Amino acid sequence: MSNPIYLDNNSTTPVDSRVLEEMLPYFKEKFGNASSHQHRFGWIAEDGMNQALERISELIGSSVEDFIFTSGATESINLVLKGLYQSSVFENQQIITSHTEHSALLEPLEELKLKGVKVHYVPVDKSGLLDLNNLEEALNHKTALVAIMMANNETGVIQSISEISQLAHKAGSLFFTDATQAYGKIPFQVRPLGIDLMACSAHKIYGPKGIGGLYIHPHSPIKLKGQITGGGQQNNIRSGTLNIPGIVGFGKASELCQAEMKTEGTIHSQWRDWMEAHLLSIPYSHVNGKTQERLPNTLNIRFDYLRAEQLFSKIPEIAISSGSACNSANPEPSHVLMNMGLSEKQAKSSIRIGIGRMNTYQEILEAGDQIKKAVERLQMENPLFKKRG
Ligand SMILES: *Cc1c(COP(=O)(O)O)cnc(C)c1O
Repeated sequence: MSNPIYLDNNSTTPVDSRVLEEMLPYFKEKFGNASSHQHRFGWIAEDGMNQALERISELIGSSVEDFIFTSGATESINLVLKGLYQSSVFENQQIITSHTEHSALLEPLEELKLKGVKVHYVPVDKSGLLDLNNLEEALNHKTALVAIMMANNETGVIQSISEISQLAHKAGSLFFTDATQAYGKIPFQVRPLGIDLMACSAHKIYGPKGIGGLYIHPHSPIKLKGQITGGGQQNNIRSGTLNIPGIVGFGKASELCQAEMKTEGTIHSQWRDWMEAHLLSIPYSHVNGKTQERLPNTLNIRFDYLRAEQLFSKIPEIAISSGSACNSANPEPSHVLMNMGLSEKQAKSSIRIGIGRMNTYQEILEAGDQIKKAVERLQMENPLFKKRG
């Protein structure tokens, strides 16, 4: 058999060797604690961190003071929700979000609901785009936070962030976006988009796992109670000795994205479009989600007359997924697709393909052929397919 082909890059990505190269010295020679201001070892570590902050700020158009490091997007989102809650920002107030958010947001929100926070979920249409009229109607002076992701991890659908933030601000609310999938894949700047808070993560952009961050707009109404307290690092918002190798890797990964995003996005979208056309030539296949406003690397597609699980077992050498990796342990249908109006059966016959930097065109062609053959074989084996109209 051929080598396995990894097409699950929305779940995680391999570390780019240029990122690893840059990280290595920070494990040994440059191992210092960035908070040790008394000696050279500390200064060198701090320099590494400052360079990473500059690269990240450059990518998103922020200032270096407006970004803090966390262990990843999950922690950043928890910090936003719980940190605002504990600063009493949510007293008698509501949060507006959507059912198609990542579980890293939906789960901590469940905890806040138990404490009395009101949550309004704005529906999405069948293409995955947020219903802006519903958002506008739901917003009022009691809305403390609107939390809408920039690009969906399962469908790649990109929301109209600028319009959403404008509506939020008009009602006096803060706007938070989980940009974990968009960061480094599509260009954006936090200021013109009206973003108050933004979460991102290194391991989705060829950086290491266990490091991510949170952009916080420097204006005064944002008070975040730190969730991990201790030495008071990072303005007391997130204590603990800084993970300098991870931070340096995150910075390098961001710099590479900034330099290569445009070329890479063009190539990935061409490959994705080839894959999409190839798989749509299968009878009873349908793309899930808006095809225009979409990440360049992502394809979510479903095939009637089969279950995705069956397909995975037929093509063990191709790593694709049925949606969110975080939910793969339980074979529940995707909450994102169900909220776009798909039936349980349709959601369970959907797959997600996430193209990445390490893929080759040869791999895309090979995977496309294998998936198509396996789907057609499974459909033929289904008695309902033979009996169809
Ligand atoms: C991966 C992902 C997360 C979680 O990020 P971690 O850094 O793994 O905690 C959150 N939101 C979205 C949209 C993601 O794709």
